[in-house]
Amino acid sequence: MLAWWRRRRENRRLQTLHLTAAHWEAAIADWPVAARYQGEARARLRELSLRLLLRKEFVGIHGLAIDDAMRLRIATMAAVPVLELGLGWYDDWVTVLVYPDAFIPSHDREDEFGIVHTDREPLTGETSAQGPVLLSWADVQDANGEDAYNVVIHEMAHKLDLCGAGGTNGAPPLHPGMDPAAWAAAFTAAWEDLDAREAAGREGPIDPYALQDAGEFFAVVSECFFEAPQRLAVAWPDLYGQLRSFYRQDPLNGS
Ligand SMILES: [Zn+2]
Repeated sequence: MLAWWRRRRENRRLQTLHLTAAHWEAAIADWPVAARYQGEARARLRELSLRLLLRKEFVGIHGLAIDDAMRLRIATMAAVPVLELGLGWYDDWVTVLVYPDAFIPSHDREDEFGIVHTDREPLTGETSAQGPVLLSWADVQDANGEDAYNVVIHEMAHKLDLCGAGGTNGAPPLHPGMDPAAWAAAFTAAWEDLDAREAAGREGPIDPYALQDAGEFFAVVSECFFEAPQRLAVAWPDLYGQLRSFYRQDPLNGS
């Protein structure tokens, strides 16, 4: 479909949407990250959230009833990483499956060596190339800006990563002017620092789950970038700078 045609149709649907600014404000009132966006940026974030809500399908699983406030909350958290990038980065997928709590995926998991795992560890979120985004609603509600945890931003970072070549490998398409070597160097240095801290039993700025692979590392630092930017900027200023260039936002300085 032509982009202008989609936008015109979407604009009409936006105007007839029964969700008001007050509904949106109420849905995200207790998410501290949203308070960072004020004035013009807040208006854009709200509009982007509503457009996202119109473009995606939200499905409750295991009997979970999804209301507008839940949809708005998830859509807003998903809109934050692409506020300065555009919704086009999410064009490859449509469906958000929302589980009441941590869930056991119904499929087997294949690792990087092609070994299929049938162990059933509960997950808080999951996604795949062009596949739906799976989220635990209990975990969506756990994002509080303090522990750098946000399952929606985590899964959206995977989606951005998947826009590049090679699957979720911590290498999303970089913008013109960004240096892939500088990106890789900042990520490698942070990885090695976290790995060394883990080996020494010292706490790092992010969840050590990040050390699973480069894709998880990018997703977990993206959570920290938006939820607890100070922590990331202090520990790994180069990495913070790379993420600031990629997301075209500077959460530490309120933008
Ligand atoms: Zn992940």
